[in-house]
Amino acid sequence: MADSINPNIIRKKRKLRTAADYLSGLARGDRFILSEVLTIIENNQVDTHIIRDEILASITVNDAAHSLRIGITGSPGAGKSTLIEQLGLHYISEGHKVAVLAIDPSSIRTEGSILGDKTRMPLLSTDTNAYIRPTASATHLGGVSKTTQESIAVCEKAGYDVVIVESVGVGQSEVELAELVDVYGLVLLPGGGDDIQGIKRGVVEMADFIVINKADQERIQLAKQSRRDFQGSVALFPHELEGWTPPVLIASALEGHGIDAIAVTIAEFVGKGKAQGYYEQRRAAQEANYLKNRIHQTIANQVQLIYDKMKKADEMALQVEDHRSIFAKIQLIVSQIQSKLEE
Ligand code: GDP
Repeated sequence: MADSINPNIIRKKRKLRTAADYLSGLARGDRFILSEVLTIIENNQVDTHIIRDEILASITVNDAAHSLRIGITGSPGAGKSTLIEQLGLHYISEGHKVAVLAIDPSSIRTEGSILGDKTRMPLLSTDTNAYIRPTASATHLGGVSKTTQESIAVCEKAGYDVVIVESVGVGQSEVELAELVDVYGLVLLPGGGDDIQGIKRGVVEMADFIVINKADQERIQLAKQSRRDFQGSVALFPHELEGWTPPVLIASALEGHGIDAIAVTIAEFVGKGKAQGYYEQRRAAQEANYLKNRIHQTIANQVQLIYDKMKKADEMALQVEDHRSIFAKIQLIVSQIQSKLEE
């Protein structure tokens, strides 16, 4: 067997890209590079900290000036992927480029990641104006993580002016997702309140619009009834945007009905928001959130570098005592920073 392996073949080492390589790749809209950058962003490994920081530092508010950030939530099976695919195709038909940061549902069940969403959105994933990023959400139930905001920014940098983020409405992550996007929609099934649909309490209150999906076949009447029920529920919670009562729409993502109305609702919401300064407020909150995470990460990365340096200086295997001494040194550095801040 060993003879069949050609000894003259030397496996080529993958060329290490520089931040400039990545940035020019993003500027070209190179999807392969975009995937690599998103992996760097998500994994946040020590050996890519510098490149990561350089890429993020190059992103400016202008990169997002004309983008639309949409959050879509709903319990597994509500039809989010099918709906996002239809909505994505709608935006592409209007000349937009669409990026989808999708939760990979297999990762929730098995805590492992497979590239399930590629096949969950078959039309969108083969469209040259779309980019789909399945996210393994084992550690962040629902798919929204600390790095999602950065991933959105990177997609915008690569020229995607519509970014759709998907999550399941079960965890704390819903609050976070609502804070990361311009408009936040909830997908429900006909029949049953939020308690029955496995949606966390409060998610309905946060929604800017609701879609009762699967309004087809024998479910049409039930969908209409659910719309009335949810219209009653949302009317109880005043929306932050004055004069806005979250519309409850009915759709069939499978048959492609009601998708245009969703896009119209989104446009109306953003339009009203811009007119009242609400949109800018929400964008400012997103920017603040983004910067807060970057501050945390930069500090955490620096501490990691200090730790690695100290560890390297000490060749022997680290014992509890060694860690204590490193910890003490890091505490000293932190207290020096604190006293600088108080000066
Ligand atoms: P997700 O888990 O919320 O992303 O749901 P999917 O989009 O994967 O859909 C779950 C199942 O429901 C799939 O078998 C879809 O084909 C089906 N489905 C999605 N939307 C509709 C719809 O509008 N009508 C019907 N009848 N089935 C749908």
